[in-house]
Amino acid sequence: MALTLPRSLSPSKVSSFKDCALAFRFSVIDRLPEPASPHAVKGTLVHSALEGLFWENGPGGRTPEAARASLAAAWEELQEDPEFLELELADDQRQAFLADAEGLVAGYFRLEDPNAVTTVGVELLLEAEVGGLLLRGIIDRLDVTPEGEFIVVDYKTGRVPSEMQEQSRLGGVQFYALLCEQVLGRRPVSVRLLYLKEPIVIAADPSEQALRGLRQRTAAVWSAIERACEDEDFRPKPSGLCNWCNFQSLCPAFGGDPALASALSAELHGAPA
Ligand code: SF4
Repeated sequence: MALTLPRSLSPSKVSSFKDCALAFRFSVIDRLPEPASPHAVKGTLVHSALEGLFWENGPGGRTPEAARASLAAAWEELQEDPEFLELELADDQRQAFLADAEGLVAGYFRLEDPNAVTTVGVELLLEAEVGGLLLRGIIDRLDVTPEGEFIVVDYKTGRVPSEMQEQSRLGGVQFYALLCEQVLGRRPVSVRLLYLKEPIVIAADPSEQALRGLRQRTAAVWSAIERACEDEDFRPKPSGLCNWCNFQSLCPAFGGDPALASALSAELHGAPA
């Protein structure tokens, strides 16, 4: 029996298939639960604070004080969030968690003046069909230049990648440029990754040629996913990423049995139609 194809993919899921097809299957096809990650939860908190800074304040009002108020409101909301609660942080860990988030928000103001940019949307959900595949992604912020050109902005709360990883990260963000072109009809002139920790900006100007190549590669990845589902053949690809993989116990590279994933998935989500 063939495995059920996902209905849509996000750019991060496309790159997760390339990193390891088997981990992709466990996460996207079998939808096995993964433990909450402090880094991901902190990233959500900081993104919410910056979203509020732009959403609640017009040019002139986007000050560090306004950002701190936005972070305080997002922190308040986070107290009820199931993923945050799952972290079970002790009091001192909660204080350190919040202090880290405050440092990241402060880092943002060292990268740009939010009052000097014209923003047309924050946390924009974009969906487009690319090569027969429904691709969807959320753009952290979409700016427009005085000439009316779009700029895609993505906040990063992790470390700045090495030079080799940089191209792959930018490749991921080019997906957002592609989505923007497909949905809004215009290719952005720039994609900017704002690394809040360092703080550093990495920018790229997506060319027509780069996006054409990306469309072809996306179609090829989708064909590979279709084949893997049809043949039920998702292979492990051991690498340094295994150290952070939540599925080692099911992975044959670590002595696990991937067949157990289907049973676990059926138990959690019911048998596929
Ligand atoms: S442990 Fe490594 S090889 Fe196995 S599924 Fe995870 S990432 Fe893939």
